[in-house]
Amino acid sequence: MKQREFWFIVGSQDLYGQEVLDIVAERSAEIAAELSKVLPYPLIYKVTAQSNAQITKIIKEANYRDEVAGIITWCHTFSPSKMWINGLASLQKPYCHLATQYNVEIPNEEIDMDFMNLNQAAHGDREHGFIAARLRMPRKVIAGHWQDEKVIKRLSDWMRAAVGVAVSKEMKVMRFGDNMREVAVTEGDKVEVQKKLGWQVNTWAVGDLVKEMDAVTEAEIDELMEAYMASYDIATDNITAIRYQAKEEIAIKKMMDREGCKAFSNTFQDLYGMEQLPGLASQHLMAQGYGYGGEGDWKVSAMTAILKAMGEGGNGASAFMEDYTYHLVEGQEYSLGAHMLEVCPSLAADKPRIETHHLGIGMNEKDPARLVFEGKAGPAIVVSLIDMGGRLRLIVQDIEAVKPILPMPNLPVARVMWRAMPDLLTGVECWITAGGAHHTVLSYDVTAEMMRDWAKMLDIEFVHITRDTTPEKLEDELLVKDLIWKLR
Ligand code: MN
Repeated sequence: MKQREFWFIVGSQDLYGQEVLDIVAERSAEIAAELSKVLPYPLIYKVTAQSNAQITKIIKEANYRDEVAGIITWCHTFSPSKMWINGLASLQKPYCHLATQYNVEIPNEEIDMDFMNLNQAAHGDREHGFIAARLRMPRKVIAGHWQDEKVIKRLSDWMRAAVGVAVSKEMKVMRFGDNMREVAVTEGDKVEVQKKLGWQVNTWAVGDLVKEMDAVTEAEIDELMEAYMASYDIATDNITAIRYQAKEEIAIKKMMDREGCKAFSNTFQDLYGMEQLPGLASQHLMAQGYGYGGEGDWKVSAMTAILKAMGEGGNGASAFMEDYTYHLVEGQEYSLGAHMLEVCPSLAADKPRIETHHLGIGMNEKDPARLVFEGKAGPAIVVSLIDMGGRLRLIVQDIEAVKPILPMPNLPVARVMWRAMPDLLTGVECWITAGGAHHTVLSYDVTAEMMRDWAKMLDIEFVHITRDTTPEKLEDELLVKDLIWKLR
């Protein structure tokens, strides 16, 4: 995982005298150091800024340094905001305004005008908030005491969203083959995506992959087989099929690592020279944090890698997913999600099994090996990025995943069962109305608020389908957003 950090920039002015400024600097350093112990990334105190020149200099430096994933600002004292304009106007990193104060309580006996001059965040942060509003800057405002658990959780989530932006800006996607013939929703403007999200999406020949596979040694395959056996139960006698998947995985990983790619897509319609669609291979690559999209869906592939990086430990429980079929019994309405083969084991409730089965679709000469398991229960989201022509729309739906209510013993793939919000059928109506794809990223540890922040940082449209969404309200919202985004 790459080193990332955030900078803590504290606003003040030179009217208070050195003694006050020293206290502000000392406390700000203490807050940053204490928060760094509980936040997912270090927060580095940089400066108690008293001038336009100081603020401009530190923001230029934050822009320049790759390891800086964002800035967090606060005003312990008053900090006249005209001195922030030049710096903020040049800011190219995610920005969070932490409206906090050092103390929790107003000290009844001690409070005097010296205390008031030192502890002015309540009006300092309002002056600071005005200038970001005036500059129409995308930023996150988080209010509360810096030691409060809810504040720390929200700051953590915001940091993860900002890291998602950094990962997005560095994203390179390796495409094997084109999109599945005639499919619309997996298409998209790669130039627009690179401009807005930073992704470099390019194609490599399937023949190059086959050549790379031919160069994989038996020793390399043996080593990966050890890793498979350590993580999964082998529930097939067809070891040859598993070894073939290992060969595919090694070759794909070598090509991606050589090019710096963190995501890939392929299609069952173009496997020329390969005996099996990569199943287990794609699944185990996803378990290592790589993004994947089936049927040439490079958008969902990159999004999978980004959500994984935003999750716990920099490789969370997020996965490429597809809505397959419904259970429509009244009171038991659920979606069944799966894919032909490629569901990431980070979703698994129990240890996955490696199985081999016939795959009727596409050009598979041999039965591909794949991981089979049930997904975990719990609250989650599904995420879809679509190209509306002229702009990108990110759709997030809240879902409740359940232990699959049926054993489905003859289903030869990993499966997840969930109920969409606000209820399955209304949720389906809302999703279809918004244009959401059949491919999604399903995540247990990235939240809708994180995705909203991510979309705001990258300046793309965001649509959230929640417990409270109705199709009528959503239609109106989409109509208004369509107008707004055409004007931008
Ligand atoms: Mn698919």
